[in-house]
Amino acid sequence: MRIELRVCQHCHEGEHENEHKTAVTRDLVACAERISEYKDVLGLDDVHIRRVREDEDDDGRPAALPAVAATIQNEQITVSDTQLVTMGENGYMLVYPNPQDALKVLSGNIDEINKETEVDVTVDLSPEGAAILAGEHDEVPDPPEA
Ligand SMILES: [Zn+2]
Repeated sequence: MRIELRVCQHCHEGEHENEHKTAVTRDLVACAERISEYKDVLGLDDVHIRRVREDEDDDGRPAALPAVAATIQNEQITVSDTQLVTMGENGYMLVYPNPQDALKVLSGNIDEINKETEVDVTVDLSPEGAAILAGEHDEVPDPPEA
């Protein structure tokens, strides 16, 4: 299997002033780097981290796996700056355009490495990342009592 994580370099550096996204982006990169170190344990062929920048030399193209998630916003195609793409032995690519899902997939890989190596390779996640894995973002708070 091959994995490509695509992130916004500016969010990673904290330059886009979106604290939540910066925290999750750093978690995604930290997890992908850890997986890359142990990729032989999982039998992964390649773990690529693509950091997209806004300068003219960067056309945003994927580096390893040619798939980019897009949405339509204000009738314009907007390419996702954060996504995870995996390609299995069968050649199918899965695109996870949602950072929450991407973090869950990467974290699942780290759990696998923990099991295989019996070494704790767990990444210290931000409170934001930890909340995602705990499923807290899915919970809707109870409405206040009338
Ligand atoms: Zn950004």
